Amino acid sequence: MSERVIPITDARRIKPLPEARVSAAANADGPVADTLGRTLRDLRVSVTDRCNFRCVYCMPKDIFGPDYPYLARSEILSFEEIVRLVRVFRRHGIQKVRLTGGEPLLRRNLERLIGDLAKLGTAEQPLDITLTTNGSLLARKAKDLCAAGLTRITVSLDSLDDATFRAMNDVEFPVSDVLEGIDAARAAGLAPVKVNMVVKRDVNDHHVVAMARRFKGSGCIVRFIEYMDVGASNGWRMDDVVPSAEIVRRIHAEMPLAQADPHYRGEVAERWVYADGSGEIGVISSVTQAFCRDCNRARLSTDGMLYTCLFAGQGYDLRTLLRGGTDDDGIAGAIARIWTVRDDRYSEIRTAETAKERKVEMSYIGG
Ligand code: SAM
Repeated sequence: MSERVIPITDARRIKPLPEARVSAAANADGPVADTLGRTLRDLRVSVTDRCNFRCVYCMPKDIFGPDYPYLARSEILSFEEIVRLVRVFRRHGIQKVRLTGGEPLLRRNLERLIGDLAKLGTAEQPLDITLTTNGSLLARKAKDLCAAGLTRITVSLDSLDDATFRAMNDVEFPVSDVLEGIDAARAAGLAPVKVNMVVKRDVNDHHVVAMARRFKGSGCIVRFIEYMDVGASNGWRMDDVVPSAEIVRRIHAEMPLAQADPHYRGEVAERWVYADGSGEIGVISSVTQAFCRDCNRARLSTDGMLYTCLFAGQGYDLRTLLRGGTDDDGIAGAIARIWTVRDDRYSEIRTAETAKERKVEMSYIGG
């Protein structure tokens, strides 16, 4: 295994919890803002660190090979533990939970987790439950996921060209099966389906316009993502990034676009609508137009560490609290303290040097 990969059981990944200055109960309820005034709103939960794809930019085969030390079952949060934590997060006003991974549909009985999470939503405080998937198992599972209470879905698809897609997922997975999954999701009522395309220069950037064209007018929203320096294993270089502005320019030249307002403050994707009214695309520009100032997302890793930034090197150990007998007030208080001291803004201060720093892998922290 590469020296640059942080072993999952490495204690250096764990950040000490901020000290309590007031009683746990004092911090247990209500919205919390960080040092830059950003209010906690979204939670991403990685339900597995495993994936059946070996996307070259995320879980490259040479590092995530047969000997890779994935988490043991006992280390992974159970559904009951995840539901308990989400319930506690809800006390701080969390409105959206995104299940991710790894590949979330590899986690057995995921529908059960979704069903239990769905019960946490109320008329006064609805809970938006969504999921990001590579789509490989979606054709089989879409109906059950929707019936369990999933509200929306995002499917990753990096090219419509079969050879390019197979080369990027590196397990010879065909495009047609992912398209079938997208159709199944739409038929099940998961709308709108979002399609994520990570754009890497000279790998798939020449397929950007074809991707936009394929889904224009279909009701699906394609989001073009700048290739990021997440984790420590993808050998990221700035030269590989295709700026969102260039992507918009290329699509606009063939299918005119106009910029649209965000749905809410902190929305990750910048929205562009087709001038002929046939739908929209999004661009996610974490590299060239960092959106840290509005970032309201916390990330719960598969083993219950809380990360306050996608590019973090360390997380806070909530699992020890969960399993060590801390009550819900105590956990809610710890979450509030963690969020209150948060000052992350990695993408705004990224340099070629920081890009080489040790960060946790996206498959573990959740994309
Ligand atoms: N397995 C699921 C999937 O494929 O969607 C969920 C996990 S995946 C880590 C979540 C999202 O992160 C995917 O859309 C993936 O393409 C994106 N992603 C992974 N590595 C990335 C990178 N280096 N830069 C930009 N996006 C990346």
